[in-house]
Amino acid sequence: MKQKAISRSAELRNLVVVLGDQLDERSAAFDGLDPRLDAVWMAEVARESEKVWVAKPRIAIFLAAMRHLRDALNERGWRAFYRALTADGAEWSGLPGKGISGETFAAQLSWTIAETRPVRLIIVEPGEWSVREEIAAVAKAADVPLEIRTDRHFLCDAAEFAAHADGRKQLRMEFFYREMRRKTGVLMDGGEPAGGQWNFDHDNRDSFGKDGPGLLPAPRRFPPDKTTREVLAMVSARFAEHPGELEKFDWPVTAAEAREALDDFIAHRLPDFGRWEDAMWSGEPWLYHSRLSAALNLKLLDPREVLAAAERAWREKRAPIASVEGFIRQILGWREYVRGIYWRFMPGYLYRNTFGADEALPPFYWTGETEMNCLRHALRQTLDYGYAHHIQRLMVTGLFSLLLGVRPREIHAWYLAVYVDAVEWVELPNTLGMSQYADGGVMASKPYIASGKYIQRMSNYCTGCRFDPAERTGPRACPFTTLYWDFLLRHETALAKNPRIVMQVRNLKRLTDEQKEAIRDQAGQVRAGCGVKPDK
Ligand code: FAD
Ligand code: SF4
Repeated sequence: MKQKAISRSAELRNLVVVLGDQLDERSAAFDGLDPRLDAVWMAEVARESEKVWVAKPRIAIFLAAMRHLRDALNERGWRAFYRALTADGAEWSGLPGKGISGETFAAQLSWTIAETRPVRLIIVEPGEWSVREEIAAVAKAADVPLEIRTDRHFLCDAAEFAAHADGRKQLRMEFFYREMRRKTGVLMDGGEPAGGQWNFDHDNRDSFGKDGPGLLPAPRRFPPDKTTREVLAMVSARFAEHPGELEKFDWPVTAAEAREALDDFIAHRLPDFGRWEDAMWSGEPWLYHSRLSAALNLKLLDPREVLAAAERAWREKRAPIASVEGFIRQILGWREYVRGIYWRFMPGYLYRNTFGADEALPPFYWTGETEMNCLRHALRQTLDYGYAHHIQRLMVTGLFSLLLGVRPREIHAWYLAVYVDAVEWVELPNTLGMSQYADGGVMASKPYIASGKYIQRMSNYCTGCRFDPAERTGPRACPFTTLYWDFLLRHETALAKNPRIVMQVRNLKRLTDEQKEAIRDQAGQVRAGCGVKPDK
């Protein structure tokens, strides 16, 4: 249905601001509103893709999903004021004016308010602290009341998380997760955890061994339709210099596609999800992972639906408890937990840097051009698809950055830019907290550090690499292994205070002074080779 443009004299009651990660037609933003009196505002703003150097797949998925929601709202009779980027400019639909040239979110919203004079602005809680501040500032400057509604997409709101966290000396996901299981009744039999245990982790986390993963179930693809193809063409032209590729873009961009992706995962990959959750293999980006994070974070998919589908698969004996519990823990546990951490500790969280890391991000993170086979695979896959699974993010790209000592805000900006599922509330605690331990233990009980031997155990990357994960010094030394020992040396005093890591630190006692010196020298060479200044 083609929408009519609002005339300047037509009265507008509420202006509902819908952000790029709030694409749920059933969102609380629409509660009690009337399409005849209220209007929806959505804007594509280039600055959002430029404040960090956002990769093409991530720009494309947000814009494609936004345009599909715009069309669905128009079909339902909503007036949608929509600003679409073009190859060299932007055009509004639904509004009579041509717009203003400002490429910031605030400039466009301020202009719309001046044009349409709404009685009130309505928005669901944004997923980024600075965006919430920005919208509040725009509303204040325009003297329009702003109503911020709770995002009922999530199963735990800020007050509930505070009730969980208040008075605890230490936050740990496992305790939060059990509370969430009890509260929601997910995977519970009466008051007890279904299957007799809260956690089946010890049954999970195998590696594939020499034979590899064998024939893998190919995930359902979503070839771009006309709307998505227009977005891909625009992104290729306008953001040509940005990293990443679009040839393989096949992500779900509507609620219906997201549901198909969920069904496909439950039927074909969930049964083996747990067992191979941590495994990696060259040229196999998906393995048994769900690929649902972007659909969830854009709010195309309700987590309750995902949880119910996974639980049903177990109750109907289509998937084992270890896989189902492992998967449910990611959504009901980790996903809700990191959001709680984000809102509890922002804005100060962004500036944490426990280890005082001060190195620049190696330039090859933006190109994948490195001799390190594990990093090359994880980075190329990231740039090609906008995707890497959790262990690739935590124990390859994240681990290297941690061991090298990259500034936490710099690696945070990279993760926020490159993944199709990246939204600050989930990306920041995972990067800064879980992978870089920059928050000093808020998220994780210990830094996730390992040598190249971990990567060798969990993947086949080392087989095709010119380095040897068992060597820490010398011409074939694996940079991960060198930097692992260097990290222990640099942070020995701090790490020795952590009982979960003290055993690793004790291994330093077996090294002679000459060996320690050789490690430091080699680490300096690794840093220099990364295009990063040598250790001070
Ligand atoms: P699966 O492996 O199939 O897991 C199922 C779902 O569980 C995911 O779709 C996701 O919604 C949820 N989930 C799993 N692990 C986590 C976690 N640690 N935190 C929150 N939710 C989780 N996830 C994002 O959604 N956005 C990000 O920007 C993001 N950045 C990350 C950065 C780093 C450094 C690390 C270590 C992890 C990050 N994660 C992020 C978490 C996790 O890696 C991704 O959710 C997952 O890889 C997405 O792939 P999938 O959908 O196939 O997940
Ligand atoms: Fe990565 Fe080291 Fe293995 Fe090479 S040897 S793939 S750099 S862990």
